Amino acid sequence: SSDGAAERVHAAVGAVARAVVAAEPELTGLDRRVGDGDLGLNLARGAEALLTADLAAHAGAAEYLAAVSDIVRREVGGTSGPLYSILLLSIAERLSADAAGAEPSTSQWADAVAAGVARIRQVGGAAPGDSTMIDALQPAADALCTVGHLDAAAAAARAGAEATAGLRPSLGRSSYLGDCAVGVPDPGAVAEAAAAAERGTQPGC
Ligand code: ADP
Ligand code: MG
Ligand code: MG
Repeated sequence: SSDGAAERVHAAVGAVARAVVAAEPELTGLDRRVGDGDLGLNLARGAEALLTADLAAHAGAAEYLAAVSDIVRREVGGTSGPLYSILLLSIAERLSADAAGAEPSTSQWADAVAAGVARIRQVGGAAPGDSTMIDALQPAADALCTVGHLDAAAAAARAGAEATAGLRPSLGRSSYLGDCAVGVPDPGAVAEAAAAAERGTQPGC
């Protein structure tokens, strides 16, 4: 039933939110080195808001994620807040178009995540190799499509985030540092990897 899907999304969102709170010091440290230092606290504020929000009334996975997108849009600042809000809204819209109230299949989840990542790329203009969250998100979305389970997606996100340490950032604040940012992994990509590692009972697997 759609109730089951929403319950699984609720568990996954909670697990991801707790992982983001736990990663706050690391993300703050990284964004201090190559940005303005606000990423950890911005994301942790959004995560705390999700953990205390009353989202139980949302019956299906799509409705639930649309409500999560609203909270993220209100609570998370910086560049990454709007981008995450768009990711979540795009996933919700695709799920509601494809699954129409039923529990989404694994391939519907994978398609929805791929659509969300494509939307972030369209809005933010980042491609893989620019040293942004896309360097973790795109490989994770690809792994979800090809392998179909979240272990593979989390491993791909981790590998992609680590690889950003070798890249010269070409978008966002860290690009102002030029070569000085080389050697530091992109904070947004590390945030993705931390979130993806906390798969818990995430959907689609
Ligand atoms: P700000 O620089 O506005 O403080 P945040 O600290 O909220 O931004 O987020 C920084 C992260 O946002 C970066 O580490 C990077 O992953 C991501 N980012 C920045 N610009 C873009 C973009 N154009 N497209 C995708 N991700 C981006
Ligand atoms: Mg910042
Ligand atoms: Mg900022």
